[in-house]
Amino acid sequence: MGLKVFLNGGFVDKEEAKISIFDHGLLYGDGVFEGIRSYKRRVFRLKQHLDRLYKGAEVIRLEIPLTKEAFQDKIIETLKVNNLDDAYIRAVVTRGIGDLGLDPRKCATPGLFIITDKIQLYPEKYYRSGMPISIAKTRRYHPLSMDPRVKSLNYLNNILGKIDAIDAGTEEALMLSVDDYVVECTGDNIFFVKGDELVTPPWELGSLEGITQKVVMDLGRKRGMKVGYKTMLAGEMYDFDECFLTGTAAEIIPVVQINGKTIGSGNPGEVTLQLLEDFRELTKTDGVKY
Ligand code: PMP
Repeated sequence: MGLKVFLNGGFVDKEEAKISIFDHGLLYGDGVFEGIRSYKRRVFRLKQHLDRLYKGAEVIRLEIPLTKEAFQDKIIETLKVNNLDDAYIRAVVTRGIGDLGLDPRKCATPGLFIITDKIQLYPEKYYRSGMPISIAKTRRYHPLSMDPRVKSLNYLNNILGKIDAIDAGTEEALMLSVDDYVVECTGDNIFFVKGDELVTPPWELGSLEGITQKVVMDLGRKRGMKVGYKTMLAGEMYDFDECFLTGTAAEIIPVVQINGKTIGSGNPGEVTLQLLEDFRELTKTDGVKY
């Protein structure tokens, strides 16, 4: 049986899942989305993902045509229809069909779809031996230009950063703010470790408030670490012993080199590996069962 997706109220075959070329989600990237994961029939941090989706929608004044509870039910139903034990879930709400102008008020009905599938973001070897990343030439856009609470369908800033990563021969790139502060990577948050200090850049600089980021901060606190947000210039990164990235798809991935410069010992750090183990343990017991 082929994959089925939930699209505007019903289930359709993947191949038949089509939306209008007049949807402003396509024409302008006007909409919001979430990337969520399930582990062994448990959806990890589903409430937090839905809260972020609805918050982002509110910021862009997009009314999601389902209650949060109904949205949650539809996600679970999509997983069941496809009989997936471990899945990557993509929930998308678009502005809907309008004319060729920008005015969102002219789009009467938002589009809504849910895809459940598999994803592997980074090759397995990087989890064992650490991943080198580069620094993108493209800067993260300013938080006053684009509210970082919105996980919007317009990912071109990140895609330009990803192209920079590809040009540099790395899988991922760190994006700096226009004033040289460390913000986040193109699809992941970034953390640094020194002794018992665990830090990540504040979202006010323009990063997405990651669900995995929050989980890892909690795990760090449970391990007795001093956890916090830290504003740092690019040059300060190399003073840390360990670095890693977090994201729903990536989980926790050790970073051992930034722009050719080694971080710490050049191997995945002890704290990083411990947090990865803690994280994977948590995914076994936490989450909405289906
Ligand atoms: N930053 C960006 C730009 C992202 O797209 C993502 C999600 N892929 C993250 C950070 C990580 O967020 P989360 O842990 O909620 O997946």
